[in-house]
Amino acid sequence: EKLQSQEAIALEDQYGAHNYHPLPVVLSRGEGVYVWDAEGKQYYDFLSAYSAVNQGHCHPKIVGAMVHQAQTLTLTSRAFYNDKLGVYEQFITRYFGFDKVLPMNTGAEAVETALKICRKWAYERKGIAENEAQIIVCDGNFHGRTTTIISFSNDTNARANFGPYTAGFVKIPYNDIDALERALAASPNVAGFLVEPIQGEAGVYVPDEDFLARARALCTQYNVLLLADEVQTGIARTGSLLAVCGNCTCEKQCEQQTTYVRPDVLILGKALSGGAYPVSAVLADHAVMDVIRPGQHGSTFGGNPVAAATAIAALEVVSEEDLAQNARRLGQIFREKLGEYVAQSNIVRLVRGKGLLNAIVINDTEESETAWNICVKLAENGLLAKPTHGNIIRFAPPLVMTEAQLLECVAIITKTLTGFEP
Ligand code: PMP
Repeated sequence: EKLQSQEAIALEDQYGAHNYHPLPVVLSRGEGVYVWDAEGKQYYDFLSAYSAVNQGHCHPKIVGAMVHQAQTLTLTSRAFYNDKLGVYEQFITRYFGFDKVLPMNTGAEAVETALKICRKWAYERKGIAENEAQIIVCDGNFHGRTTTIISFSNDTNARANFGPYTAGFVKIPYNDIDALERALAASPNVAGFLVEPIQGEAGVYVPDEDFLARARALCTQYNVLLLADEVQTGIARTGSLLAVCGNCTCEKQCEQQTTYVRPDVLILGKALSGGAYPVSAVLADHAVMDVIRPGQHGSTFGGNPVAAATAIAALEVVSEEDLAQNARRLGQIFREKLGEYVAQSNIVRLVRGKGLLNAIVINDTEESETAWNICVKLAENGLLAKPTHGNIIRFAPPLVMTEAQLLECVAIITKTLTGFEP
């Protein structure tokens, strides 16, 4: 029996531990760029489960592959081999151009995995004394919510009273190449630099065009691993297959493109399954990945056959439907159209982003409720978006959107914003 929205909210509030801070919308169905609430009201999804549903809700090819595999074999753990995992591992390593993959389930787990790989590499290959490895991270980062990851978060709400924290992290300002160089030069114990190519949760902060390339050069110079967290930016979201591809729109042989910045460790999650199933992955070459030996890392569900089948289908959809190209084209239109609004607005200061990962910044404080109130109104008007801060709203629709749909959404957004103009 289907619950009405108020009942569903009451149940979650009564029995569920506090988690995120949800908008009061109860979703019960999704298809493509649309979701429907319990009463049947239709919305454009402009969050895509934080960039997980890039291929659109309930994509038939992805769901078909997942259901077919679920009816055949769901889980073996890694106690045995299964007949889907190797096929997937070959597929994904070729797709992204790395030697090896370590399959996990969630984004945070994949980040934790990358940090472990980086530390072990530092001790076994770089010769750093045990327990001395340092990993450079950025202000404003978001990499997940596990104990180690919150140890280097700036988000006091996410961090306070969860200590003691994991040691071994050095923080620099994001997009500050000089600070990176100083941190690298300051200690021989630096093992890696963990970075989001575009910071999502920080409010869609796009670094200078040459930041990543210069970071890559410095990491090479100092023999430090570049760890790229593409959990949110990857899988065509920013108008290229990965944000580290820069302006390259090809899907293969990215190494041949001049704007491609090759990380030593690539971290993927979210849209790796099109949001259909929890699938994350860490990719690297032999020289790095081989530091993990049998029995040293893994998880019961990581690399299970359903995950493998789902992720292959999800990546095939990205190529077949040219999602990077569509994200690039629609993103330009989105920023151009909203830019016209911003130019004559007294409430919106700017629109920024890349591909279909964008945000507007409102003339108010980070602590204000304006962004939240606008999102509540947007929902009433049939579009779901979520603030990252009291003055920033992120817009990240599924990448399968058409231009006509996008223009309709721009109209909803500008009409809603008009109602908040002073
Ligand atoms: N890294 C980045 C860049 C993210 O945006 C997120 C999720 N917002 C994560 C890691 C964590 O992923 P998960 O929620 O699946 O653990």
